[in-house]
Order: sequence, then structure tokens, then C-alpha cells
Amino acid sequence: MADANAISRVVMLGPPGSGKGTQAAFLSESLGVPAISTGDMLRQAVAAGSELGRKVEDIMASGALVDDDTMADVVRERLRQEDAVDGFLLDGYPRTLGQAETLEGILEDAGVQLDAVALIDVPEEELVRRALARKRADDKEDVIRERLRVYSEKTSPLIQHYRDLALLRPVNGHQSMEQVTSDLLSALGAAESGS
Ligand code: ADP
Repeated sequence: MADANAISRVVMLGPPGSGKGTQAAFLSESLGVPAISTGDMLRQAVAAGSELGRKVEDIMASGALVDDDTMADVVRERLRQEDAVDGFLLDGYPRTLGQAETLEGILEDAGVQLDAVALIDVPEEELVRRALARKRADDKEDVIRERLRVYSEKTSPLIQHYRDLALLRPVNGHQSMEQVTSDLLSALGAAESGS
């Protein structure tokens, strides 16, 4: 169980290909809270052919964002589950200012708040290079560029939003995976002392 004073409610922010999914999995172990990836949840829904999956399949394949109302239902439901009550690492949510407001509402209703927002910073050309090397089904170059464009238009405003709330913990993502993990842990540790 998560210690009441520890950093336990964290949003992972960063462009597609920044490695935030991998880092969320590592941090999940260290912090003792589940990593929740909305991308993985949606891909599972698509694979299962559920109603949600059928609704989001084409949108995901194009690199666009699923609408905020659909995502609000997905995340509200997930955060209600037992394992997320004491904390979570959110990977891939929020992705718009509207989603950030929804998340604030969900947490407020539960009487809790975010502890930190970890930002993994990586230059755009490095992101394209990584994405082409990775080649997932939705990783065609035009789709990659579209996802980066959507990130810079819709998601990057969250950086200032969380900076204003003094929650932002930026980390250089253009270094080895181990170094990024270690920097994230110290950035979140620094947040713990209330900086
Ligand atoms: P990335 O590799 O870009 O980090 P994810 O695995 O997080 O991608 O998400 C893959 C796709 O799922 C997104 O391009 C988008 O279509 C959809 N998606 C995931 N999370 C969200 C969200 N919070 N809001 C809208 N769409 C989302």
C-alpha cells in the first residue's frame, strides 16, 4: 500500500515516443502504484472488438485523439478500481486541457489531488527516428507526424498548465533509459519535499 506522504498520484507527460510508457512501468514498481496507459486500454478494446474498441479504432489509426467525453468515461471508470485508490501513474491522459479539467474533477470528487506531473522532454527529430525504428501498426510515418502535430497542438499546452500549478517536474528524455528513470525518481523525490 502506498505511504500517505509519498508521491503517489502522478501524470506522465511527453510526446509520442518519449518513452513514457516504459518509464511509467519502471516508476510503477518504485512507487508501488499501478501504471495506467490509456493507449494500452484503447488498444485492448480494439483487439477485443468491444463497443469502445469499434468506436476508437479508426480514430487511433489516423493519429487523431479520441474525444474527451469518451476518454472521461474510460478514465473515471479505471481510477475507481481498487488498485488505483491509493495512487496511480497516468500514461497518455490527460492529453488536452479539457481532459486535465476532467481529471481534476474526478480527483476532487474522490477527495484527493495530483502530486506531480513528470514531463519527459525529447527533441522532435529524435522522436521521429525512434518511432520509425519501433514500427507499431499505427506507426506509419505520416501517422507519426500527425501524432506529433496533435501533441504539439493539443497536449503541449498542458506543460504550461501544470507549470502554473507548480506540479511540473521536467526531465531530459534524450539519454539512456536508466538515466531517465533515475532522473525521474529524483525529480519526483524533489517534489516530495514540497518544492
Ligand atoms: P503514444 O505512442 O503516442 O504515446 P498512446 O499509446 O498513448 O500513444 O495512444 C495511442 C492512441 O490512442 C492515440 O494516438 C490516440 O488516438 C488514443 N488515445 C490514447 N489516450 C488518449 C487520450 N487521453 N485522449 C485521446 N486519445 C487517446
